[in-house]
Amino acid sequence: MTRGGFVALAGRPNVGKSTFVNAVVGEKVAIVSDRPQTTRRAIRGIHRSGECQMVLVDLPGVQRPLDELTKRMAHRVQQELEGADATLLMLNGEQGVGPGDRFIAATLASSRVQATIAVNKVDRLARAPLMAVLQEASELGLDAEVFPISARRGSGMAQLVEHLSSLMPEGPFMFAPDASSDQSRELLLAELIREAVIRRTFQEVPHAAEVIVEEIETPREGLVRVRALIWVESESQKGILIGAQGRMIKAIGSAARRELERVLGSQVHLDLSVRVRRDWRGDDSLLDRLGIT
Ligand code: GDP
Ligand code: MG
Repeated sequence: MTRGGFVALAGRPNVGKSTFVNAVVGEKVAIVSDRPQTTRRAIRGIHRSGECQMVLVDLPGVQRPLDELTKRMAHRVQQELEGADATLLMLNGEQGVGPGDRFIAATLASSRVQATIAVNKVDRLARAPLMAVLQEASELGLDAEVFPISARRGSGMAQLVEHLSSLMPEGPFMFAPDASSDQSRELLLAELIREAVIRRTFQEVPHAAEVIVEEIETPREGLVRVRALIWVESESQKGILIGAQGRMIKAIGSAARRELERVLGSQVHLDLSVRVRRDWRGDDSLLDRLGIT
């Protein structure tokens, strides 16, 4: 009998949820950055071991809604939590337990789904502070097992994955047996380009940028041509992205191209342009089309 189910990942921005999903899946399905609010869509990374398929949903960060985009992100979090078979609350071990974590823990405690807690980034922690965070985690009122892990280094991951798998109900696989994500290729590539943008820009630019992959062609074996647009919300943001003598867009383009080549396993020709699209974050039908639901 096969087993299959969903694990919803909750946690403050930057605790390492996307890093965790990538590590469990064994390939990059979610982009990672040290800026909060990087994840906009609920991304499903899929882990399969034998007869069990576990789908990890990397939720957008929980935050107070500011505009249509963040309103949707908050709504999505609620929906995914309701549909999950287990929840995983991830904490940043380096920072200890704070009010944000307690807020999220309270949300999880009010749902009927079994929670588990991961204390991440233990590679940064000495023994005494680690014991202190584990203790704080166990006092969050979740009746959850607590696992110390390093999503980056891999320590503690096997035990946690095994525990989560054991919580999956009997039932059919929900995705193809060898699937690693539910993202389209266009979306994955767009996200990798957005990651390069986020990593090189500051303040409002990372939040204002969205990437649309318009075309993927294979003109010959071993070469993929990708045409993509970067949207920003103002001329000044566009200026920042292009940079003096086009240096910024060039740096973004070559970093993104390297990632695309790694993921696609072939040479990539990346054609990037920057376009101003005012207030895309407030545009309902546009957000629908972008798959941010
Ligand atoms: P998310 O916002 O919760 O999805 O967090 P990300 O996965 O994007 O990670 C945020 C930052 O924490 C990135 O710079 C990661 O490289 C870093 N990070 C994630 N896991 C670990 C870990 O186990 N140890 C350390 N030292 N850093 C980590
Ligand atoms: Mg993330």
